[in-house]
Amino acid sequence: MRQSELFTKTQKFAPKDEVSKNAQLLIRAGFVHKEMAGVYAFLPLGWRVMNKIMTIIREEMNALGAQELYLTALQRKELWERTDRWDDAKVDVWFKTALKNGTELGLGFTHEEAMTAMVKPFVTSHRSLPFSAYQFQTKFRNETRAKSGIMRSREFIMKDLYSFSRDAAEHEKFYEKAQAAYERIFRRVGIGAQTYTTFASGGTFSKYSHEYQTVCDAGEDIIYVHEGKGIAVNEEVYTDEVLADLGLSRDELVQKKAAEVGNVFSLGTKFSDAYDLTYTDEQGEKRAVVMGSYGIGPARVMGVVTELFADERGLVWPHSIAPFTVHLINIGRDDDAAQLYADLTSAGVEVLWDDRDERPGVKFADADLIGCPYRVVVSDKAAAAGGVEVKQRTDETPVTRAPKDLVAYIKNSRTQT
Ligand code: ATP
Ligand code: MG
Repeated sequence: MRQSELFTKTQKFAPKDEVSKNAQLLIRAGFVHKEMAGVYAFLPLGWRVMNKIMTIIREEMNALGAQELYLTALQRKELWERTDRWDDAKVDVWFKTALKNGTELGLGFTHEEAMTAMVKPFVTSHRSLPFSAYQFQTKFRNETRAKSGIMRSREFIMKDLYSFSRDAAEHEKFYEKAQAAYERIFRRVGIGAQTYTTFASGGTFSKYSHEYQTVCDAGEDIIYVHEGKGIAVNEEVYTDEVLADLGLSRDELVQKKAAEVGNVFSLGTKFSDAYDLTYTDEQGEKRAVVMGSYGIGPARVMGVVTELFADERGLVWPHSIAPFTVHLINIGRDDDAAQLYADLTSAGVEVLWDDRDERPGVKFADADLIGCPYRVVVSDKAAAAGGVEVKQRTDETPVTRAPKDLVAYIKNSRTQT
């Protein structure tokens, strides 16, 4: 894309009331727009990043055999009364509304209820099971704290997956496969090294749930990390009994701040009992379906990536989720730049070409702020040195390469994640 055609512009300053580093940088770079406290819109650059994250998640969900669907945000009160989650005293994040005739509705903050009720007519015998389904859907939560930018907002997209199994053993098998998919997702988006599978509180049906916690200063959770085993324990379940269960001793664990980027939860028959979601087994006996739920917040992932990798000059994107791979800058030599832009684009490299009539300093500062993995400079100086200048966002000094070698260089030289 030509930068002269991008309607967003970078800004020197973020809104005064914005306290989080991720939102400050993302607003300045033109990735997000702050609609109000805790409510953010995604602009073209930011939406490209979100889509890349969601594509990675979608690929891993499909590989699990999960089926994508789309439920509704508007929900009936009765749906939630069944599980005793309508009362504001029980759930303090509700946004509620009403029809013109006064009928109360809720804006879904999660979808266990809606999903369980929806699948009920399709589940009859043991032959209907197992299956799993997921969606990318907007959740509404009246969060009290909204100080973490896009990591905790009041309207956000969640990927939520639900599994339906015949018994605990079948559920356990899927749960482990889902855990492996989660590990792949966090590796692929570039935060694998900082993300720990973390034991957290379970529920009636399982002692623990698992969270995927990324160590970062902006996180709101405290976890205790075992570096050797690569696992962690959430503060909320950090007791001697847990340390014993997992075979960890307290003095091996290091306290860290972390952000929960995803979680996996065994629900047992809590929701199937509430909605009478049952099937007849091979002996003709009626049995309750065993469920699990699995969430990831793509915007929280994007916020965490920002917090982890940004430097004093701006954003730093991992290759896999960068809005563009190359930020092409030309100082004069418009025709050479146009040729290179065409060549890279036709080789499948995503290029943001700063074709604006701006000073080099302005272009360089914007490239650093926007944070694409490679900066390529076409200039008289680079031509005299035999080609174009290439620099990775995390490197200090550029190298010179012949334009024809650029695609191979980009494919082979990754030092960033
Ligand atoms: P937290 O304890 O941080 O509020 P949660 O336990 O409420 O998270 P879930 O309800 O299980 O989280 O949501 C699943 C995923 O959705 C989380 O792991 C996180 O990635 C994301 N998420 C949750 N709340 C928000 C929010 N307010 N803004 C953005 N993403 C969120
Ligand atoms: Mg929450």
